[in-house]
Amino acid sequence: MKPETAAIHAGNFPDETNHPAIQSITTATTFDRSTPGQHLYTRASNPNRDALENVLAQLEFGAEAAAFSSGNAAGMAVMQALKPGSHVIMPADMYHGLRWQINALFKDILDISYVDLTQLLELENHIKSTTALIWVETPSNPLLTVTDITSICEIAHRRNIKVVCDNTLASPVCQNPLNLGADIVMHSTTKWLGGHSDILGGALITKEKDEFWETIRNVQRLGGAVPSPFDCYMLVRSIKTLYYRMRGHLFNTEKLTLFLSNHPKVEKVFYPGLLSHPGHDIAQKQMNGYGALFSFLVKGGAAEADKVVAGLNYFTHATSLGGVESLIERRASVEGPDTKTPQNLLRVSVGLEHIEDLISDMDSALAVI
Ligand SMILES: *Cc1c(COP(=O)(O)O)cnc(C)c1O
Repeated sequence: MKPETAAIHAGNFPDETNHPAIQSITTATTFDRSTPGQHLYTRASNPNRDALENVLAQLEFGAEAAAFSSGNAAGMAVMQALKPGSHVIMPADMYHGLRWQINALFKDILDISYVDLTQLLELENHIKSTTALIWVETPSNPLLTVTDITSICEIAHRRNIKVVCDNTLASPVCQNPLNLGADIVMHSTTKWLGGHSDILGGALITKEKDEFWETIRNVQRLGGAVPSPFDCYMLVRSIKTLYYRMRGHLFNTEKLTLFLSNHPKVEKVFYPGLLSHPGHDIAQKQMNGYGALFSFLVKGGAAEADKVVAGLNYFTHATSLGGVESLIERRASVEGPDTKTPQNLLRVSVGLEHIEDLISDMDSALAVI
């Protein structure tokens, strides 16, 4: 089955006697135990979550998937599955919400280092005998840094270190880290997989059902940060159109980033699809498309960047990414006073509006500064 086909059929487990074409939502929290069935209690498993986990595992070429109630809950399950005292290497540029979680909740439990993973020698120098995990996020958020997944996995696996890759920005359409050597893939399904800015969710997909994975499964089922049957249903529905949505998102992103790269009011565009991007060659090797999130620096400072955001009509001024509607935000304003993100950086999630509308909207908003 090709991914487009799996996206439609692998998340559909209709089990009703009247054979609906689409799996219904099973809202029951508990199941009759007098007839042996697959499910007992919905925190442990339920038909809609099973269907969702099945399609997610197929799209990422994994052995199994575990669905969570948010991307952060998925990330947290990985941290909770580690032995206390383990050394964890996190990327220097990564999703701010997860870095915040780790610093706030795990600083006394895990030994955490932030390392620029584009510098492989620097990475090797940071590895200790207690290093248990290298966390990769590529392309990264918000600077779109590209990390060489294959090389990192080679370094890690020589020393029995697990590699988890946050693949949220790329989506399974543009990148499949398990095929590049990663042990586990993480997604905030809130983003491209959900695709319509109306579902919060997360997922982990494993290459092998090993001991570490069983611990993660326990965190999922015993910790209980699981998505509701309704959320699972919504996500399965969204995933059916993922591959075709991404084609549109990628088409628009290529055009918009080229337009902005040549715009006199723009200092720099961060997008791995551009030849000028330092990670372009690696991205070309490991990705099947460069994603539909990019950042750019407006000439000037925070005030000029804010003016551009205020002047746009079709780009909603909002955080998050991955929906059919285009979104824009000045990232430093969200990340707080200790951020290293440039003050004039705008992050754009490119939607499915007509590209000519998006380009003319940007052009007129940039004209006011
Ligand atoms: C949004 C996001 C997360 C967190 O996911 P939530 O669903 O918001 O909890 C993690 N990583 C990346 C790259 C994200 O964009």
